Amino acid sequence: MKRAFYIGRFQPFHNGHLTVIDRITKEADELIIGIGSAQLSHDLENPFTAGERVLMITRALVGLSRPFYVIPIEDIKRNALWVAHIISMTPPFDIVYTSNPLVIRLFSEAGIPVCSPDMFKRESHSGTSIRERMRTGEPWESLVPPCVVDVINEIDGIDRIRDLDRSDGDLSTLFSSGADHV
Ligand code: NAD
Repeated sequence: MKRAFYIGRFQPFHNGHLTVIDRITKEADELIIGIGSAQLSHDLENPFTAGERVLMITRALVGLSRPFYVIPIEDIKRNALWVAHIISMTPPFDIVYTSNPLVIRLFSEAGIPVCSPDMFKRESHSGTSIRERMRTGEPWESLVPPCVVDVINEIDGIDRIRDLDRSDGDLSTLFSSGADHV
């Protein structure tokens, strides 16, 4: 039995993440997906809550050929203790899949094997560029699984990102259709 751990912020979960999971299913018997920075939401770099990211990932992986567990994990202030924090929150695992240099460093120092899969179309398939497309109104839907589009529509995610991008002076437009505000 080989159980793999894959950690990300998944802001949002996109097709690059899916290619990594496809690879893990060929190499491991079970998969743990850690939703990192679980405490963060409603800012431009982290627009979606942990629960919304659970929904995106769980729906995207319906029918996966391997058992999987999706576990939100809050950040801690001390990197040196982070691997122990992860281990305390997850089922036991044998290998970590990540290409994040800090994550590679922390797990390697803890003696846990790390695999770094190739990037899939990194130019377009990064959370940063997808969030920027959402903010500016460029097409982003083809970069994520269709069920992630559904989740983002259900939670009114694009309007959330655009509202987060407004400054105080824009509030008159934000509330222009509503009642008077004092
Ligand atoms: P991410 O969502 O950007 O990426 C998740 C994984 O997918 C990464 O391994 C990344 O390399 C990979 N990936 C991204 N785009 C890809 C593509 N196009 N093709 C193939 N793979 C792709 O998340 P992240 O920033 O790596 O998440 C790390 C998490 O760990 C963060 O939440 C961070 O806060 C957390 N962390 C916390 C601490 C702490 O609390 N002290 C320490 C280290 C890391």
